[in-house]
Amino acid sequence: MKTPKLLYANAAGEVMDHPRYLAPGRTGDYLTDVEPHEWIPLPEGATLTWLPGTRAIGIRPEDGQLEALPTSCYAVGALLPQGYTRLFLPGYSKRAKEEETLPLFGYTAVGWHKDAFVVAAHPTDASDEWNPETVSEADVEAAVQRVLQTFPENRLFAHLSHCALVYGCMTARNTFLGRQEGAIPASNVCNAACVGCISEQPEGAPFPAPQTRLTFRPTVEEMVEVMHAHIQQNPRGVVSFGQGCEGEPSTRFLDIAKSIRALRERTSDGYVNINTNAGFTRGIQRIVDAGLNLMRVSTISAIPEHYDAYYRPRQYKVSDVEASLAYAADHGVYTSINYLVFPGVSDREEEVEAMAAFLRRAKVKLVQMRNLNIDPEYYLRIVPQRKGDILGMVDMMDVLKSECTGLEIGSYTHVPPVQHNGVQTQHAH
Ligand code: SF4
Repeated sequence: MKTPKLLYANAAGEVMDHPRYLAPGRTGDYLTDVEPHEWIPLPEGATLTWLPGTRAIGIRPEDGQLEALPTSCYAVGALLPQGYTRLFLPGYSKRAKEEETLPLFGYTAVGWHKDAFVVAAHPTDASDEWNPETVSEADVEAAVQRVLQTFPENRLFAHLSHCALVYGCMTARNTFLGRQEGAIPASNVCNAACVGCISEQPEGAPFPAPQTRLTFRPTVEEMVEVMHAHIQQNPRGVVSFGQGCEGEPSTRFLDIAKSIRALRERTSDGYVNINTNAGFTRGIQRIVDAGLNLMRVSTISAIPEHYDAYYRPRQYKVSDVEASLAYAADHGVYTSINYLVFPGVSDREEEVEAMAAFLRRAKVKLVQMRNLNIDPEYYLRIVPQRKGDILGMVDMMDVLKSECTGLEIGSYTHVPPVQHNGVQTQHAH
């Protein structure tokens, strides 16, 4: 594919393609050409957004030079659905140093080619299961009403109905529809203070938290009721502690352990998963011992300086996260990381080397690529200075796979293959 035309927006947010200029990409704070094969058609479920406070930058076709457009022209980016890894950010500059901070989104380079939108992205995992277009509003509303009537006293279902109907959260919707992965938010506190936390931002933070954090502590009975109802509808379903609308689930390790044991008294079907920062190793160990099946650990780097700058952990270190993962793997849990990635940072030589060694030591089986949702300038101000070369996001994924035997790269939780009479079979949950 030839380099696509540049897209820009006016102050009303109307998107236009430029008659001459071509679309650059950005990696870290460096603007560059995007290789033809790195552009793909805009995937279903993606959206476009204009970037307030910015000035679009284009490539002059005649000499390949970069040029900022007039101040009336704002940059445009795409927001990708799950299943796609962003390769480049849009090309822009902030109008003024103190310019407003962009909201928590994963801005991706986008262009116009043969009357269609294209993005600089990599199809990393089959996304149809997480494509919001595959679920009808009417089905969700009917399922929510049905479940709330069946469990009128359960505060967790009431909380999740807001997530399903207002935020459109796919995991909350699944919980009512009894499909795939369901949500069991458990904790309203956290042992970290991530810069880009989506459920809680400190007073005066430059960007608001897009979701409201859980305001109560679900009881063991409430959690077991939600878990069992989901698995009854889908015996190969996954029920997941650790959702975007809560803090750190392992801070409730005792109640979660009780919930898992109580569920297993009722059924041996389904999978119990936890999405966690895994910093509280003793808590994680107790949850693993109770019968956990899957664990997804969110992280941004294996380099302590970088990890600490983003996660701002309270009384834990990256080495604790590693210890939690290794313990879970040694006790038969299918482990993955939810890798918050950013072009020009995650694909730095030093980051890739450190992450490959971390994944090997922690015996991780799957890396889930997650485009980091944050204002690029804000993030680049907090991360350590670059040391090595930038490999590129696709090469980064290839190096991790080649350096870690058997490692899978995807975008969402996979259930482990089913043993049928000792034979492994691939089966979507
Ligand atoms: S670990 Fe999760 S809940 Fe805790 S601060 Fe980070 S994003 Fe927020």
